[in-house]
Amino acid sequence: MARIAIVTGGSRGIGEAISLRLQADGITVVANYAGNDEKAKAFTERTGIRTYKWDVGDHQACRDGCARVAEEVGPIDIVVNNAGITRDGTIARMTFEDWSDVMRINLGGCFNMAKACFPGMVDRGWGRIVNIGSINGQAGQYGQVNYAAAKSGIHGFTKALAQEGAKKGVTVNAIAPGYIDTDMVAAVPAPVLEKIVAKIPVGRLGQAHEIARGVSFLCSEDAGFVTGSTMSINGGQHMY
Ligand code: NDP
Repeated sequence: MARIAIVTGGSRGIGEAISLRLQADGITVVANYAGNDEKAKAFTERTGIRTYKWDVGDHQACRDGCARVAEEVGPIDIVVNNAGITRDGTIARMTFEDWSDVMRINLGGCFNMAKACFPGMVDRGWGRIVNIGSINGQAGQYGQVNYAAAKSGIHGFTKALAQEGAKKGVTVNAIAPGYIDTDMVAAVPAPVLEKIVAKIPVGRLGQAHEIARGVSFLCSEDAGFVTGSTMSINGGQHMY
C-alpha cells in the first residue's frame, strides 16, 4: 500500500514542488493550505492531489484536519511541515502580532502537526516528519528576529522530537533552504535581492524542486538511518 503524506502549504511554492515530487515517488499526497482557494483549486485540477484548508497555527484545526484526512484518505505516514510566513521589520517596527503570528504559524504549526500525527506513526512503527527550516534560522537575518527565532526553533524541535521517534521507526529531520525562487522571495525588494544573490556561491537563487528532492530522500525507506539532522540546501552559502 502506498504511504500517505501531508504537505502543509503544499499547493504552491516549495510546498507544491514537494507535493509533486512525493507523488512522483508513488506516495499518496494531500496538500494543506491556508487561504489561497484559487491556487489550491487549480493545483488539484492539474495534479489530482486533494487539498485541505486549515490554519496550521491553530491546534484544534490541525487535529480536526488531520483526523479528516485519516478518515477520508487513510492514516498519515509522512508529514512535511512546510507552511510558513514572513512578517519582516526591524525590532523597532515589528509589532507583537508580527512576532506572534510568525511564531504561531512557523513554529507552532510544526508542533500542532506533530502532535496530531506522531502518535499514530509510533503506533504503526513507521513515520517520517520533515520540517522546513531556513538558512535564516541558522545564521539570523536583519529585520527577521521573528522568522529567525521560529526557524531556529524548528531546528531544535527537530532534534528533540527525533529522539522520541528514534527507536520507534519514526525519523524527524529538517531542511534549511537558502533563497529559493518563490512568491516569498519575490516579495523581497529587487536591490536587496541582488545583494543576496551576489553572496550565494552558486550565483543564483535555488529552485523549489531542489528542496523537494531533499525531502523526497528524507521520506524514503533508504533514509531510515537519518534522523535529527538538518540538510542545508543553499547554493553554498555559509560554507566559508
Ligand atoms: P510561499 O509564500 O510561496 O508559500 C507559503 C505556503 O504556506 C502557501 O501554500 C500558504 O498557503 C501556506 N501557509 C501560509 N500560512 C499558512 C497557515 N497558517 N496554515 C497553512 N498553510 C499556510 O512560501 P515558500 O514556498 O517560499 O516557502 C515554503 C517554506 O519554505 C516556508 O516555511 C518558508 O519559510 C521556507 N523557506 C523559504 C525560503 C525561500 O527562499 N522561499 C527560504 C527558506 C525557507 P496559501 O497558498 O493558502 O496562502
